[in-house]
Amino acid sequence: MNVSVTKILNIRGSLIEKASLGENSWFRCGGNADLLFKPADLEDLLSFLNQYEKAKPLMVLGSMANCIIRDGGIRGCVIHLGKAFSDIKVDGTKITVGAGALNGSLASAAVKSGIGGLEFLSGIPGTIGGAICMNAGAYGAEVKDVLFEASAVGREGHVKTFKPEDLKMSYRYCQLPDEYIFINAVFKGKIEDKGKLRARLNEMKVKRQQSQPISEKTGGSTFANSTSKELKSAGLPETMRTWELIDKVGGRGLKIGGAQMSEKHCNFMINTGSATASDLENLGDEIRRRVRDEFGLNLNWEIKRIGEKLC
Ligand SMILES: Cc1cc2nc3c(=O)[nH]c(=O)nc-3n(C[C@H](O)[C@H](O)[C@H](O)COP(=O)(O)OP(=O)(O)OC[C@H]3O[C@@H](n4cnc5c(N)ncnc54)[C@H](O)[C@@H]3O)c2cc1C
Repeated sequence: MNVSVTKILNIRGSLIEKASLGENSWFRCGGNADLLFKPADLEDLLSFLNQYEKAKPLMVLGSMANCIIRDGGIRGCVIHLGKAFSDIKVDGTKITVGAGALNGSLASAAVKSGIGGLEFLSGIPGTIGGAICMNAGAYGAEVKDVLFEASAVGREGHVKTFKPEDLKMSYRYCQLPDEYIFINAVFKGKIEDKGKLRARLNEMKVKRQQSQPISEKTGGSTFANSTSKELKSAGLPETMRTWELIDKVGGRGLKIGGAQMSEKHCNFMINTGSATASDLENLGDEIRRRVRDEFGLNLNWEIKRIGEKLC
């Protein structure tokens, strides 16, 4: 696809054609983006949106910790909010943070200021924009519990502020209107003892190191946990977790090409070194097929599969 970059003028951020994307994702494989734009600031982003052809596809990606970028790449433009959108400001029990900031930076700032409730974010890889979009969560807490409001810019360049209830946030879900880009958010915690917060942060870190393949090329949980209603209608215990189903169908350690379901946490998929995006997706599809055949239950992908397959 020819996105006419030459028509886009006076941009201060970086605009890259045929940008490597998959290689920079957590899985370290997959295709390129036709165009990648990293705005210098909000004004730059608005100027770009104003000039970028409305008919061309546009999407935003954070750290790509929850994505498979398909081998054929992404048509149109990918926006990435980096350092320019990573300011963090504390005011009482509220913290305003740019959507490009890392979850870990927000968690550290909260602990440093004695604000409790945001520690769970410390070990979740990715940016604040991605965390809101995925309603990311861990250890019984999720973004919607601590999000006060989030602002996003629409394709037409208007900024809108959403309360969590406007976004209908639920388990790993947020209903943001199409093509909106979160630019910043306000989180709210509660005053707590800094020592206790530090201890909780460390406890979570150790738990994660023990249970997840965090040093591998992975994308976190491959499939979401099924709801108790879904499990019940398949005649399964309502508390059954997805990893247990994967284990029961022989998924632990299963390999297709260079893709493997982790031995350590069998709902995590890993690139053993030579995986293509299509190996990863085929492995996920094989797991889904086995669970459907054995238990009559359709697993829902948590990982987003983005872009085009190679023909
Ligand atoms: C080792 C490992 C452990 C993980 N553990 C957890 C865990 O415990 N809990 C959990 O919930 N997740 C976990 N994940 C998954 C992942 O970290 C989260 O989903 C994270 O929130 C993704 O953020 P990201 O910036 O990488 O988003 P991306 O993967 O880049 O994008 C995810 C989605 O968010 C959208 N998005 C990104 N930025 C914006 C924005 N500014 N505005 C609008 N939409 C946006 C993208 O379009 C895409 O649809 C884990 C992943 C890994 C690799």
